[in-house]
Amino acid sequence: MVTDRCQGCGACLLTCPEHAIRPHGRPLLVLDELCTGCGECIEVCPVDAIEEKLDAIDEKLDAIEESPCATEESPCAIK
Ligand code: SF4
Ligand code: SF4
Repeated sequence: MVTDRCQGCGACLLTCPEHAIRPHGRPLLVLDELCTGCGECIEVCPVDAIEEKLDAIDEKLDAIEESPCATEESPCAIK
């Protein structure tokens, strides 16, 4: 989700490998059907305007939490 903190710099738009971010005024529009949840847009945003509420990121986190390796003994578990 792109919040109102977006300054319209375009960095996320240029970085997204899936071309899932589209110019749509401010804030920009993220097409959830294209987003793979890689998180690159979040890392590149200079004003932390993108919050991890993208459906694909949520789904990825859910999959990790439900994976067989997500145990208390495993370092990959997200708590
Ligand atoms: S990188 Fe951040 S500030 Fe720049 S356009 Fe994207 S969301 Fe807006
Ligand atoms: S998390 Fe989604 S919108 Fe952001 S760079 Fe990755 S594919 Fe693009």
